Amino acid sequence: MVRFTVLASGSKGNSTVVSGGRTRILVDAGVSCRELFRRMRLVGEEPETLDAIVITHEHQDHVNGLAVTARKLGIPVYFTEGTHRAWMRWLTPRRQMTYSQWLEQCRKQAAQRHAETEAAAMAWGPGEVDLMAGAESALGEPEQAEVADSEAETAAEPATVPPQKDLTWLPAVEYFQAGQPFQIGDIAISPFTIPHDAADPVGFVFQTEGVRMGFATDLGYIPPNVKAQLKGVDLLLLESNHDLEMLRDGPYPWSVKQRVLSRVGHLSNEAAAEFLETEYDGQAAYVILAHLSESNNLPELARVTAERALNGRASLLANRLLLAAQHEPLVPVYF
Ligand SMILES: [Zn+2]
Ligand SMILES: [Zn+2]
Repeated sequence: MVRFTVLASGSKGNSTVVSGGRTRILVDAGVSCRELFRRMRLVGEEPETLDAIVITHEHQDHVNGLAVTARKLGIPVYFTEGTHRAWMRWLTPRRQMTYSQWLEQCRKQAAQRHAETEAAAMAWGPGEVDLMAGAESALGEPEQAEVADSEAETAAEPATVPPQKDLTWLPAVEYFQAGQPFQIGDIAISPFTIPHDAADPVGFVFQTEGVRMGFATDLGYIPPNVKAQLKGVDLLLLESNHDLEMLRDGPYPWSVKQRVLSRVGHLSNEAAAEFLETEYDGQAAYVILAHLSESNNLPELARVTAERALNGRASLLANRLLLAAQHEPLVPVYF
């Protein structure tokens, strides 16, 4: 049986389980290992049965729980080489200090950020402060929790475990390249390049038991190669990140708005709808809107915009529209 379960979707963490035949793959590990396992059990997935983790790109909302999850399960992680290197660079500075030194640095940085936030509250008003608070939790807290988590795990092991563990260590690393399909167990995977401001970001088409599932989030626009990949899919998971007007009038600083809106940023409700109305072939039984912004979008806005696009095409009544959420898993989709 084929099963597709979005565990989390949005700028605070992304993770999905794709199952087919005897194989189960985690796509991105953007929430903590503990939360990942909790959500999997909530929807009837057994974390211990996962065979591999596949990563789209190195942004924190896609890798926050990666190392701990891979180590705990002892399973391989599939990256492009560029993404793996970028992920290691992100973690590397912390390797040069002991765990207690690193904790101390986190404390100092938190205090500094707090002071800056206070100052910003006076200078900028509430919007930017929200953004900074978000950045803080993305950068500091989850990682700290992850390390504490893994330290607790190894506490029972012999005292030879070094205090400054290699944070980039993984049980096994496998490289793939965009444009070159590969196989994990019973699931065939076609990775394709997407336009996004990361080292070597990809989307995927998963194929198993004759079912094709397209997966495309974190892309500034939909270029021809992505349109070609998303043809003939039975399930389409597509980014619907922001409402253009909400983003324009919203709390983000101008530079961040420019980044989100750019050709290597995120896909708007309007851009997703335009694709659904004009280019999409209407073959999917399920269309899942994903990576919705909590600051610049509303689920109902995303839904209505996509519905309008699909309803304009009378032949597409079979398409069921679902919305992936940040804080709870989506009900599993079965084929
Ligand atoms: Zn990203
Ligand atoms: Zn993302």
